Amino acid sequence: MAIEFPSLPYAEDALEPYISATTMAFHYGKHHRAYVDNLNKLIVETPFADLTLEEIIKETAGEPKYQAIFNNAAQAWNHNFFWHCMSPDGGKAPKGALLKKIEAAFGSYDAFCEAFLNAATSQFGSGWAWLAEDDEGKLRVMKTSNADTPLAHGLKPLMTVDVWEHAYYLDYQNVRADFVKNFIAHLIKF
Ligand code: MN
Repeated sequence: MAIEFPSLPYAEDALEPYISATTMAFHYGKHHRAYVDNLNKLIVETPFADLTLEEIIKETAGEPKYQAIFNNAAQAWNHNFFWHCMSPDGGKAPKGALLKKIEAAFGSYDAFCEAFLNAATSQFGSGWAWLAEDDEGKLRVMKTSNADTPLAHGLKPLMTVDVWEHAYYLDYQNVRADFVKNFIAHLIKF
């Protein structure tokens, strides 16, 4: 049973002008697809072949001999989650219970945005910024390197932004902060 390459929840040009169709064509069509294709090659005829993506991530996390499987599985999951963290009509705070939790944890939605921007811009090198929830329902902003994901640490991801250079370099060159500011102001979708 192969891991499926999931469809995008919108057209490749839907997030313009904040993320160009060219960036999406490479990021989704080349980078994300390669993680799924590589994972399927690595797990064929192994016990991992019968597991879900989430199960593969949890089974291989922190195991040096399974590093390549973990990296490709986590990147496959992170990217699919990231696409669903954006919308052409995004840029709005969540409503209801999640907004109340964010206000309790950070003081306000704006304070959460500032912490999230800081995590995204201070991640050194490739990685991700996250809003995640622990098993007691407590929220935290965090950053991870390379393929690492809150799922590998027993946390539930609620929001993410990809800060690998391939996510923004064609549109923003080296100015990661402008990409993340536009993500928060125009694309973020809880
Ligand atoms: Mn990426």
